[in-house]
Amino acid sequence: MAEEGRGFDKLSQVGALGISSYRADFPGIGDWHYLDTAATAQKPQVVIDAIARAYGPDYATVHRGVYARSADMTLAYEAARRRVAKFIGAASENEIVFVRGATEGINLVAQSYPEKGRVLLSQLEHHSNIVPWQLAGWQVDVCSLTSDGQIDLDAAEAMLTPDHKMVSFAHVSNVLGSVLDVERAATLAHAVGAKLLLDSCQAIPRLGVSFTNLSADFAVFSGHKLYGPTGIGVLWGRAELLDAMPPMHGGGAMIDRVTFERTTYAPPPGRFEAGTPHIVGVVGLHAAIDYVDSIGLDAIHAHETALVAQCRDALRSMNSVTLYGPENSAGIVSFNVEGVHPHDVGTILDEEGVAVRAGHHCCQPLMEYLGVDATARASFGIYNGPDDIAALVRGLERVRKLFG
Ligand code: PMP
Repeated sequence: MAEEGRGFDKLSQVGALGISSYRADFPGIGDWHYLDTAATAQKPQVVIDAIARAYGPDYATVHRGVYARSADMTLAYEAARRRVAKFIGAASENEIVFVRGATEGINLVAQSYPEKGRVLLSQLEHHSNIVPWQLAGWQVDVCSLTSDGQIDLDAAEAMLTPDHKMVSFAHVSNVLGSVLDVERAATLAHAVGAKLLLDSCQAIPRLGVSFTNLSADFAVFSGHKLYGPTGIGVLWGRAELLDAMPPMHGGGAMIDRVTFERTTYAPPPGRFEAGTPHIVGVVGLHAAIDYVDSIGLDAIHAHETALVAQCRDALRSMNSVTLYGPENSAGIVSFNVEGVHPHDVGTILDEEGVAVRAGHHCCQPLMEYLGVDATARASFGIYNGPDDIAALVRGLERVRKLFG
């Protein structure tokens, strides 16, 4: 399915932005200016078709049936696991655990990692990379940000001690778009004997990520942000770390042998996939990865980088707009219009056919740090182009007119 270079031909490049010719692949887009891909991506028809087939003529359970359809579905389910492993550069498909999403993946590590202690987070984390650690009884430390909104790794280095068993950072911030220096973060974590977990929810759809070339220990992401279905996500963990972790959920499929006295567990990844899994979600995720790979993440990243630069320039020229985050943010631009609540900004933009997110983006500690209740956020995907930015600017001009 993958055609090398297709993306660079069809997606616009820096300095030559054109309307993305991939827009036609997405039946949910039409002439809507959808700028909320960081919340969830629209789905290409190939993913919708794969889901329809999996619920229709191909549907059966996995791992249990002796009949041919179930055996075929099991092959499809395990083929998807191999596809994910290849896509993110995991050493083996046994390092790929299917979970409901990034949130469940972080909860799993927070609950099951055998050596609990202090965890170092950053000021920009999503609530799903804060609350699971609190719930599981870790002691949470927080490192600050640089003035342009990146995780301050000098501050992290100064804070880390041998009591820290985990460092858990956003790979790309869902509010600021800041990209983590993963190698440095890993070096700092490993220097004190801690592991590095990456919340790669925003990174996997936006950067070419290969864990073959990165020294992280765990990573999580959600299918629905990668143009795939909701309810399915991935926890990647190094084999020896997953091996040492007990399951979080008990039930069917995750066992080796059950008696009333004692149960032994299956090896990873089955150990962490209790119950009938989200079979169709896994098949849909496979289709989404094929689709994204056929365009190429290098092309997607270049496209989003160009859109971010254009968007920041356009918003900067409106002198009542405050921009947040670094200039080289990955696909995400947060902003505020002076004197107007972001919810009002979002509502007026919606009347203009422009969808942005407005609120705290599940990052209340970051909002407090920025000294605001909320921001508006434009985030880009494969289907966006400069016409979406033009519509955003038109909408913001109307906001300024209405609010004087
Ligand atoms: N982390 C980040 C950086 C996110 O953007 C999100 C989704 N907004 C999550 C974690 C949680 O993802 P999910 O709700 O799909 O589990």
